[in-house]
Amino acid sequence: MTSAATADYIVVGGGLTGCLIASRLSQSPKTPVVILLEAGSDPSGNTAATGFLTGLSLLGSEFDYRYQSEPVANTANRVHHFNLGKALGGGSLLNYGGWLRADSADYDEWAEIVGDKRWSWEGFKPWFRKTEHFYALDADADEHGFDGPMYVTSVSAAESGERKYPLREPVRQGWSELGVLPNLEKRHVLTNTAVNKVTFTDGVANGVVLHDGRKIAARKEVIICAGAYGTPQILMRSGVGPSSILNEHGISIVHEAPSVGSNLHDHFAIYLAFRVRDPSLGYAMGNEAWQNPALFKGLPWDWVVSGPLPAELAKKHNIEADQQGRNLYEVITLYVPPGIPGIPIDGTHIATSTMLLLPTSRGKVSIRSSNVADPPRIEPNYFDTPLDRDTLIHATRQTLQLLLATGSMGPIIESESPPSGEGLDGLEPLTADSSDGAIEERIRRTGMQHHHSGGTAAMGKVVDVEGRVMGVKRLRCADASILPIPLGGHPQATLYPMAEQLASMIIGDM
Ligand SMILES: Cc1cc2nc3c(=O)[nH]c(=O)nc-3n(C[C@H](O)[C@H](O)[C@H](O)COP(=O)(O)OP(=O)(O)OC[C@H]3O[C@@H](n4cnc5c(N)ncnc54)[C@H](O)[C@@H]3O)c2cc1C
Repeated sequence: MTSAATADYIVVGGGLTGCLIASRLSQSPKTPVVILLEAGSDPSGNTAATGFLTGLSLLGSEFDYRYQSEPVANTANRVHHFNLGKALGGGSLLNYGGWLRADSADYDEWAEIVGDKRWSWEGFKPWFRKTEHFYALDADADEHGFDGPMYVTSVSAAESGERKYPLREPVRQGWSELGVLPNLEKRHVLTNTAVNKVTFTDGVANGVVLHDGRKIAARKEVIICAGAYGTPQILMRSGVGPSSILNEHGISIVHEAPSVGSNLHDHFAIYLAFRVRDPSLGYAMGNEAWQNPALFKGLPWDWVVSGPLPAELAKKHNIEADQQGRNLYEVITLYVPPGIPGIPIDGTHIATSTMLLLPTSRGKVSIRSSNVADPPRIEPNYFDTPLDRDTLIHATRQTLQLLLATGSMGPIIESESPPSGEGLDGLEPLTADSSDGAIEERIRRTGMQHHHSGGTAAMGKVVDVEGRVMGVKRLRCADASILPIPLGGHPQATLYPMAEQLASMIIGDM
């Protein structure tokens, strides 16, 4: 490639959304020239990149940015560590494969905020269907697609029903004791190529400058898909961002966009480990009795439970009556402790993930300099609002009650096992009767993000309803950074269909 390379569309970031958009544009009838620029390398020769869940062994490797946050006052001044995919495939290389849409009310709120029904639940539906190749007994053809590129199955339908975890029924029964019932219901790819910034002439984006100074011109558009941390950095280095930050780093202002980098949201969560009374019964992965090959064919989990706040807490936080049914937290039972410090994977422990679905705390991302090689400054500000604190404490208590105090699970579980290791001295086991203060303290000392970051170039604030960066021309963002609000699912089940819809909008403008 020479410094005079030109494409119709430049897609910056070959992660989950960028790969999809680049491929849809290049398959479109006008066959535009599309260049996809990815800072990381092509991992396809690496066997850990191809198997299901084998990507977990790549955490901390060359395929992971391993960013660190600033110390967070609300979480005992801890520095949080961020796994973020740096490779063709982005986060999809490292992620756990969980496929969980948000509630319809969450999408409807998004549509209302930005004033466009295409981002509502009904607006999303065609794109959900286009994304999925869904397999489950009794799948609803209005809700699910059956010939899309993403192969998705429910745990109970997987492996012809063979992926049946031994604790499935006691956990379901435990939730039912707590009153929770199931729902019835032509292209170029350049890897190792980091984009420094977008170039403009009179506010019209016309190309990018790479980390080594080479330039690529775009005849039509530049589309940034560099993720919740990468996209705001590129915008700021390009002169689109808060003037205070641009001035501090000597960057010429192309467009003052104060919201770039703010509104950072993630699903703050706490993982808990629980020791089983009799490991020989094979309830947890790592035990000799855990033999059925079907159990290894996916993340070993069951019963994703989402819940609203109880009435008294909803009242305390002045949640309006029509919003009181919104699901604010999620609890998942995992039959393997997922990297909880000091907890062995030897069949002695199961675990839970208890997560805020609609956190109200917001953090921010900014640059440390105008140098593309410098990592960003991340201030996550987790657990900052009283609503987030009360919700996660309540959800953690629900989790403790399920595992330790229901007739179904109590006889199976011996106790909660606190994590151990550096900075974790003095943690006592939590019980179903632990005080709110003890639960809050544990959350502050061990809570973590769920790798679900978004919001840093939010629709309605930074980009319009078709992903176009407001205030400049021919520049879009089309990744997790544009999510205006947290959604109560896990992101990829939304990001693929979102990218499909955005790709169709770009193709419509060709
Ligand atoms: C460990 C882990 C587990 C997860 N588990 C799940 C799960 O089970 N279910 C779920 O739904 N979600 C999960 N996620 C989240 C999901 O993977 C992300 O939400 C998703 O990948 C975000 O997509 P994106 O396109 O916005 O960004 P990414 O997929 O992160 O892609 C951004 C890409 O841009 C590239 N880039 C950044 N800066 C530049 C630059 N300057 N120049 C060129 N390229 C650049 C990056 O290298 C990266 O490849 C998980 C994530 C992680 C890290």
